[in-house]
Amino acid sequence: MHNDWIVLVKSNKIEAAGAMNFKLPANTRIIELKGSTLLPGLIEGHSHLFLHPYNEVSWNDQVIKESRAERTARAVTHARATLMAGFTTVRDLGTEGAMYDDAGLKMAIEKGIVPGPRMIVATRAIVAKGAYGPTYNNPDVDLPQGAAEVSGTEGIADEVRTQISKGADLIKIYADYRWGRDGQSAPTFGVEAIALATSIAKSSGRHVVAHATTGEGMKRAVMGGASTIEHGDEGDDEVFKLMKEKGVALCPTLAAGDAILQYDGWKKGSDPEPSRITAKKKSFQAALKNGVIICMGGDVGVYTHGDNAREMELMAEYGMKAIDILRSATSVNADVFGYGHNFGRIKKGLLADILVVNGDPSKTIKDIRNVVLVMKDGKIYKQP
Ligand SMILES: [Zn+2]
Repeated sequence: MHNDWIVLVKSNKIEAAGAMNFKLPANTRIIELKGSTLLPGLIEGHSHLFLHPYNEVSWNDQVIKESRAERTARAVTHARATLMAGFTTVRDLGTEGAMYDDAGLKMAIEKGIVPGPRMIVATRAIVAKGAYGPTYNNPDVDLPQGAAEVSGTEGIADEVRTQISKGADLIKIYADYRWGRDGQSAPTFGVEAIALATSIAKSSGRHVVAHATTGEGMKRAVMGGASTIEHGDEGDDEVFKLMKEKGVALCPTLAAGDAILQYDGWKKGSDPEPSRITAKKKSFQAALKNGVIICMGGDVGVYTHGDNAREMELMAEYGMKAIDILRSATSVNADVFGYGHNFGRIKKGLLADILVVNGDPSKTIKDIRNVVLVMKDGKIYKQP
């Protein structure tokens, strides 16, 4: 954190940043921002712009009953809300049945048709055949699925290559899901299968990110070469030591579980803490203690787009320091996702993605909500 700095933007890049002792070019437009904090535009690490809160419409019904046109219309409004909240980039981890429409939305935003964050997209995501949803208690009915089902190594290789050709910036694979005999989460792919996806994706310079909540699923994903673990609910010291050793980051999605339990009737603040929350806190703290790289990503879409700061507030509530949360949401996310040389810092030569908030979120994390200015790629979308 620095006091009295100037950030000079030229075209879409940061030209200079530092103490107030350099000469500004003639005709520079000056925006004074006393009493506020300037930081890199925030990066949402786990969004679903094609989903909306499950207390409005269940996930199943969104996938089955909402048309692709409706879902795209919703995604457009979600994208705008996200940008206006100061999130200039999202890593959007699966359209959940809306095929490759994230790649199309990304293009529309890049062309300036609609305002929205820069998108890093997964397209459909990859699941093991028969393990995902929606499901229906009638084996004679095959419902459309929320992700691309694969079976066997040939199927995996083919799907990874297809998604890349359709515009995927990364590959998302479900290392486990709720397909156990009693509906519990259980591993879906072996290490070799995940490693095959990773080797193909890596050849093209893309990452593989893994949904994993079980210890075994997380281990297989790490050994298979995934760059981030999404959720990681049942992670313990053993798994987190392995992640630390391999440099694999955790994207904890604290806000998703918190929201879902409230949709299920938990009255936060008055009811006792549900055991799932207590367990999640414990595993998040174990990840922190073991020095695992922590991304900021909340699984927004489960809750309202534009309310992305929820995850940051929960990270603080669960024991992470505010300054570290800000790093997670900016430089750490940028580095982990492979974009640290493009954005995520206030540094000469990087893209001018800038957020200004009133107050000081490095002291009080909820100040991140007091948005006064949003700039993406050198263009101002909101200003005082
Ligand atoms: Zn998700």
